[in-house]
Amino acid sequence: MLSVKNLVKIYQQKKADPVRALDGVSIDFADTGLVFLLGKSGSGKSTLLNAIGGLDTFNEGEIIIKGKSSKDFSQSDFDSYRNTFIGFIFQEYNILENFTVEKNLALAIELQGKKPDKQEIHKLLEKVDMLQYAKRKPNQLSGGQKQRVAIARALIKHPEIIMADEPTGALDSNTGKQVMETLKNLSKEKLVIIVSHDREFAEIYGDRIIELKDGKIISDVTKKEVVSEATSERMKVIGDNILYIKKGQQLTQEEMKKIILMVNNQSKNNDTFISFDDKANAELKKGAAINDDGNREKFEKTEAEDIKLKKYNPKSLKLIKSKLKFSDSFKMGASSLKNKVGKLIFTILLSFIAFTIFGLVDALSCWNRADSVYQAMQMTNQTSIVMKKYADQGTYSSSETTSPKELENLQKQFPNHTIKGVVGSYENFYLVANEPISHSSNELWSTNTNGYIHLNETELEKLNFKHYGSLPSADDEICISKHMFDTLVKLTAERSTNKITEDMLNTISSSNPISIELDSFKKIVGVIDDKTNLDKYKNMSTEELSDDDTLYYVMRYSYARLVYVSESVYNNLFNTTSSKDYYTYLGESESWMGYSMRLQNFSSVSEFYEDHKSGYANKDLFIQDVFPNLKTGIDPFNLAKDEIIVPKDYLSACADIQTDIDNGLIISLKTNDDEPAVAKFKIVGTLSNSFGDKIFINSDTFNNEIKPLYLGYDFLVSALIGNDVEDKKLIDVCENYDKNGIKFTIQNSATMILDMMSDILEIMTSVFVWVAVGFAVFASLLLMNFISTSISQKKREIGVLRALGARGSDIFGIFFNESTIIAMINFVLSAIATIVVCNVLNAIIITKLGFEVALLNAGIRQVILIFAVSLLASTLATLLPSIKISRKKPIDAINNR
Ligand code: ADP
Ligand code: MG
Repeated sequence: MLSVKNLVKIYQQKKADPVRALDGVSIDFADTGLVFLLGKSGSGKSTLLNAIGGLDTFNEGEIIIKGKSSKDFSQSDFDSYRNTFIGFIFQEYNILENFTVEKNLALAIELQGKKPDKQEIHKLLEKVDMLQYAKRKPNQLSGGQKQRVAIARALIKHPEIIMADEPTGALDSNTGKQVMETLKNLSKEKLVIIVSHDREFAEIYGDRIIELKDGKIISDVTKKEVVSEATSERMKVIGDNILYIKKGQQLTQEEMKKIILMVNNQSKNNDTFISFDDKANAELKKGAAINDDGNREKFEKTEAEDIKLKKYNPKSLKLIKSKLKFSDSFKMGASSLKNKVGKLIFTILLSFIAFTIFGLVDALSCWNRADSVYQAMQMTNQTSIVMKKYADQGTYSSSETTSPKELENLQKQFPNHTIKGVVGSYENFYLVANEPISHSSNELWSTNTNGYIHLNETELEKLNFKHYGSLPSADDEICISKHMFDTLVKLTAERSTNKITEDMLNTISSSNPISIELDSFKKIVGVIDDKTNLDKYKNMSTEELSDDDTLYYVMRYSYARLVYVSESVYNNLFNTTSSKDYYTYLGESESWMGYSMRLQNFSSVSEFYEDHKSGYANKDLFIQDVFPNLKTGIDPFNLAKDEIIVPKDYLSACADIQTDIDNGLIISLKTNDDEPAVAKFKIVGTLSNSFGDKIFINSDTFNNEIKPLYLGYDFLVSALIGNDVEDKKLIDVCENYDKNGIKFTIQNSATMILDMMSDILEIMTSVFVWVAVGFAVFASLLLMNFISTSISQKKREIGVLRALGARGSDIFGIFFNESTIIAMINFVLSAIATIVVCNVLNAIIITKLGFEVALLNAGIRQVILIFAVSLLASTLATLLPSIKISRKKPIDAINNR
């Protein structure tokens, strides 16, 4: 079944010369029997055994197992070969200290992928007289007991070969004998190979003795029976010098004569004992190797026919791949944690900190502005969204008005929100009745208004605003916000007349309005409660209010200071409020003319004529007087699409206005020096200085091209609808530039703070990503260090497991479990810490710094990420050291090399 051919093993040494420990060893082993490898210390016995057992490599030659050559074996085949066929017994027992006697046996079976049979284990333990110790841990056993457990462990797999390296070396002679007896018994069915330097044992127990010297076989002998010459049934002469008389026999005269002859012959040269002493005779029997049949056994040179072999088909060789059960692997991994509590705590502490920082940094780096704004709005109970259009100008963005078209597009994208444009912002609110109220010094109780808006019944309902009194219908009627009403109540409280009181809310209507003076408005006909929550501020003292940085933004950007007007007033305000100025540039050059063009300056010549014709006898005289520099052939009443008449002042830079106009003078409209022109016109005449600042163009051009340039809403308002997804999406869409380079930045205290901090945030997130990666790597290294120590402490155990047949992947599993336990402790701690620290930091930012913005959003992403990184770290940390240990030859691991 097992042969070795020309085995050569050379130990390369660092300092000394290489040692040729095996020098061309060839042996064929029979299928059963007890073979001793005998030799002096250093002769190569262990080396040979380890090579045969696949615990060590060799340089030349091959091992043939059941017809299959080791040349066709991979390292893992060797593991499986041990797992399948071989039971090892070591001088130092090498049973696993962490497991009970019973479990040590079970483990060997489990590695073969079989379920351990408790009864069988107990039977085996009984056989080696260890049953009463089944539940003990090895450290409570004596050496002999441990060795018996080791034997039982070797047997439990029913291996076909048992290999033992000096199994009695560490035992007293009595125990040694017991162990030998056991092995001798086993050799009836199995091949037992024992390494020993004890010739006496070898000769007593061995069936074959192979003697080594300097790595070579110097003798190979097999015990053979020398059949004695039987003189009669009653008496035998063994060899020619021992006489054996069987118990209960009566000798004849004939036989007696033979004895006398023999005694006379022998006693000439030697002393002769005729012994009836039982003890002495037993010793003699043993010493002379006489068996119970009275035949003597003798060692003689091993011949080929002495080695009984069956024929094997190499294809039928079935190797069982080891499989370490997860629970065992886990237990081994966990058990080594107990041995290094100090280091464990240190490692966990540091890597816990590292992972937590990792989580925090990631929380910071995946901070999302829209989420943050939304969160801040919720935190501060803000319900209104104020959007201001910004256009991307490359290095900066310019604030602009929103055109009706843009508002319509936005509204279409968010049909559930009610988005409205605000016009005519910044007007002052005054109460009349001869007693204007004094301006409050703080923002909260101020009478400033932020602009005009119109909401109809349906819109109010959709917004869920509460409405007292009437809605404005006449031109001089308005509604005010509930907060503004409260302000009036507060500010007029001291007065004796014209006091506005809380209960007016119930009586206010268009037939019973509160009179005020605000621009052209005279009557407050209703109050609209827009649900703006200002409770936080209302509880503050005047001092605190003036200290609060956010208040201005909250008051400036909400419904709280909007004035509600009738639809026609709203439309009229929209059409007459020029929200933007354009500047005129002469020609294509960049010469600055310094005149701004406002929407109100545009007029039609026909209208102008209607207003001024009374002073003139006819149209021609009017034209001559009013337009002094008309280009020839131009009829100012019928200006072409690209023609313009400007005030004479606009051309004060020209030396000769008439010539310049005749030569074709161009004027461009721009919002800014650097911008391309939004429109260009040919100047075909001037307006006499005495008529002011009017500009005349074709009325179609005015309505279709110029007017839209000027008209827009100052800002937009909407209210949150209470749907997280849609509300967040609105914020997100508004906060980011669209493909046309336009965004509708949310204006509130949160975005104000974020704008202040955006640079810092950006730098932090980009730098911190690397900090986080650094910490993750650091944690991996710590873990790796921990696992490496653990592995070097467990080297011997690993070797033993390997000797039992465990594969590299099993070993990886053990340490992977160990590091995963640590990593999971880390994960749980870090995940909790990340979330806690995020919340604490947010709370500090919010309460101490007064920022109403959460900068750290730790969520499921961070938890998953920390989990993934923990797992990755533990895998990496285990991979390298355990690959290293798995590559080690099992014998080196056992011997802790
Ligand atoms: P034995 O078991 O018969 O006492 P070994 O097989 O252990 O002998 O050793 C055979 C020879 O190989 C000895 O000379 C020993 O010094 C040498 N040897 C054994 N193991 C190593 C090793 N790991 N490195 C170097 N030399 C070794
Ligand atoms: Mg040895």
